[in-house]
Amino acid sequence: RGHLYVVATPIGHLGDLSPRAQAVLGAVDRILAEDTRNARSLLAHFGISARLVALHEHNESAASAALVRELRDGASFALISDAGTPLISDPGFVLVRAARAAGVPVVAVPGPCAAIAALSVSGLACDRFVFEGFLPAKPTARRARLQALRDETRTLVLYESSHRIADTAADLAEILDTRPVCLARELTKLHEQSIVMPAAALPSWLAEDADRRRGEFVLLIAGAPETAADDAQGERVLRVLLRELP
Ligand code: SAM
Repeated sequence: RGHLYVVATPIGHLGDLSPRAQAVLGAVDRILAEDTRNARSLLAHFGISARLVALHEHNESAASAALVRELRDGASFALISDAGTPLISDPGFVLVRAARAAGVPVVAVPGPCAAIAALSVSGLACDRFVFEGFLPAKPTARRARLQALRDETRTLVLYESSHRIADTAADLAEILDTRPVCLARELTKLHEQSIVMPAAALPSWLAEDADRRRGEFVLLIAGAPETAADDAQGERVLRVLLRELP
């Protein structure tokens, strides 16, 4: 029986591919990669030659059963995504579940993850946090999601792309107003930046300079003050109780 290694790769700086990750990528029978071209250039940088198989959201379900059979027959694979930790807003969940169900050992080779990197430098509370990944793309659904998350007392972690950062910032400003937000962009890259400001200030900060809207973003939202959440919860309870009263 082989092993399935879940290997984190850099989110920018190539120096972040760990020695252990390099050793595993060099040793496995095959590397399952979200994008084989992208993987090939990463591996070339480290002088690793490996057999690559594409495993992405479109073929993961169809391909997993056959891959698990090979794992059971003794092959070892490494799973990587385009950047950071596989499965975190990236493919791999279907395969990992199937491998575990078949009794194949799934082994973490941990490393970069944009959410964790952003949290660690944000200065916002890290003792408890909620990862929400990408908000819905459609404006109505996105705003509804943010409304539903408004009373969350834990730090909220969101991923965003350059295409939608301005729209999401406008929604954050409207819904969260003075709540502190940390915008972290291009982590580990040349133009890395992380800045904390009230949600309401985000749209004008982004509008000031087109460069600020480029690249990849993590948005962290300070949790709602406990009291506000308690008040909201209290109001909900009260409303329910009032309905029951004669
Ligand atoms: N699996 C990855 C991880 O572990 O972070 C996340 C993959 S997800 C498809 C891509 C998103 O991650 C980007 O849109 C952005 O929100 C975030 N991201 C990835 N690299 C980043 C970086 N260098 N700086 C800031 N955010 C980044």
